[in-house]
Amino acid sequence: MASSKIQSVAVYCGSSSGTKPEFELAARELGKHFADNNIQLIYGGAKVGLMGHIANEVLIHNGKAIGVLPTFLAAKEVAHDALTEMHMVDNMHERKAMMHELSDAFVALPGGYGTFEELFEMITWGQLGLHKKPIAILNVLGYYDALAAQMKNMVEYGFLKQDAHDMVLVATSVTDLMRQISGYHAMQGHKWISDLEQT
Ligand code: AMP
Repeated sequence: MASSKIQSVAVYCGSSSGTKPEFELAARELGKHFADNNIQLIYGGAKVGLMGHIANEVLIHNGKAIGVLPTFLAAKEVAHDALTEMHMVDNMHERKAMMHELSDAFVALPGGYGTFEELFEMITWGQLGLHKKPIAILNVLGYYDALAAQMKNMVEYGFLKQDAHDMVLVATSVTDLMRQISGYHAMQGHKWISDLEQT
C-alpha cells in the first residue's frame, strides 16, 4: 500500500499514561506526525492517559482527531470535549467495528488489557483475511518485547504461521513505524486456506 493511501490511522493505547515519560512523549510524537502529514487520528475518544495525549497533540497542531466512544464509557473514560468529530456508539463491538471501518491502518502504543484486546482483534481479523490493512506496534522502551517473544513462541510451538506472525509490524520509532506501514504488503491467503493446503 502506498503511503499516499494512508489517510486515517486507528491508534490503540492506554487510558493510563504508564510510569515512564517516554510513553507520553511517543504518543505526542505520533500525534504531531499525523497532524503534520494530514493523517486523521481515529481513537477511543477519551481525554485520559495516552489516549488524551495523542489526541491533544493532533489538535494542537491543527490535525484531525476522531473519537469513537461507547455511551456507557463516556463518564468513566472522560470523553474528550474538543475533538474534530466524536461518534457515540452503543457498545464495544460497535466501537471496534467503526474504528476499523474509518481506518487505513492500526497502531498499538503501550497500553493495558483494552489496548491488547483491540490490537488482537485487528490481528485476528487480518489473519482470517477479513481485512488487509497494516497493523503495527510501536515498541516504546521495549514495552512489547515480552509480547514479541510470546508471538515467536506461538510459531515455534506450531500455533501460529510464520506469515501471520510477520503480518504484525514492530517498530521502535515513529519514523520506522510509518515507513513500515507505508511499505506494507498484505499476506497472501489466510489461516484457513493455508491449513487446507497442508492437508
Ligand atoms: P487500556 O489499555 O486497558 O487502558 O484501555 C484502552 C482502551 O481500550 C480504552 O478506551 C478501553 O475502553 C478500551 N477497551 C477495553 N476493553 C475493550 C474491549 N473489550 N473492546 C474494545 N475496547 C476496549
